[in-house]
Amino acid sequence: MIFLFGESSASKVKDSGEFYCAVCDARQRFQHIQIQTYATLFFISVLPLRTIADYVECDVCQANYAPQSLTESNVEEAECPIAASHCGMVRVLVYLLLGYGKTHARVRMLQDIYHERHKQTLSEVCIQRECDWILRSHEDILAMITHMAPALGYSARLQIMLAAQRFTQACSEMAFEDRLRLNQMSSRFEIRLN
Ligand SMILES: [Zn+2]
Repeated sequence: MIFLFGESSASKVKDSGEFYCAVCDARQRFQHIQIQTYATLFFISVLPLRTIADYVECDVCQANYAPQSLTESNVEEAECPIAASHCGMVRVLVYLLLGYGKTHARVRMLQDIYHERHKQTLSEVCIQRECDWILRSHEDILAMITHMAPALGYSARLQIMLAAQRFTQACSEMAFEDRLRLNQMSSRFEIRLN
């Protein structure tokens, strides 16, 4: 007899309710979502393997947050984005900015791409803070993605990678190493970038 083993992923809503969404700057409905991979036997899930993502999503703006944000009762007025989907995009774009060299034109391009995706203005103060954080952390971009990914759903991951792709195209000739980096980043996010 032939056994057909495989792997599949499924998302489930663990919880829902109301929370303060910093992007909407209002109380909104949320869903707490978990994406898990399963071992399958004859296409039937038999064993949970690992959790790919565990995050909170605003029903209105679809911003993603780490689940801890539900228990943080006092959210102070933040100058920089605090949703995981938004600050994740800033972190990835600023990392690329530092790699290609920070120029005024590239900072403007980064702000334009961020605004296109989120309809919010990203200040130079935030960009500078992110630069300082990245330079202090000594972490490479792939390790950073591994840390941020669990608080992001697939759609937020794709948005970050599409922004990264646009920014890379604007900063480089899209040589082999530029494309390779984008592929490695997508694979850390466990998504496919076409
Ligand atoms: Zn929202």
